[in-house]
Amino acid sequence: MTVDLGSLTSAERTVALYVSGMPNQRRRCTPEQLAAWLVQGVERLGMNEMRRWARFYSGHRALEVARVMPSAVQARHEQRFPNGRRLEWASQMSANSLWRFEMSAETLVRNRRDIEVDGECPCGGTATIDFPDCDPDFSFGLVCPVHGAATIAAHQGRIY
Ligand SMILES: [Zn+2]
Repeated sequence: MTVDLGSLTSAERTVALYVSGMPNQRRRCTPEQLAAWLVQGVERLGMNEMRRWARFYSGHRALEVARVMPSAVQARHEQRFPNGRRLEWASQMSANSLWRFEMSAETLVRNRRDIEVDGECPCGGTATIDFPDCDPDFSFGLVCPVHGAATIAAHQGRIY
């Protein structure tokens, strides 16, 4: 399989490295070795499945940062990536790979856009997550970190 590394988003690189033969022990490696693991990871999952996992990985991260994680989404994430430390390591190595194997312009667009929640999003597809309070003065809504960006861009007439 020929894999153009510039066509892989940072999340896709993280997923590819996670499923590759990259050892868990943190140690330096050559760019050639890193490239070989990236390709191996893509080969193991297949391009489509790897991209699907990467969209879910990005969605999980966004919900995690916003602290609005549904337990079902968390459970599926842990099923897919049972080793959290390895996932963190893969994410660091993915970041390291970016300066050596730059993302193409097209990939940079996908890098922002390719995000998906594996299950029911806390916003329910409305792009706003409601935090109701028995006192309406304390109720508020949060722009969904996954579905909100596209909505905001659409309002501004921008192609995201
Ligand atoms: Zn949402």
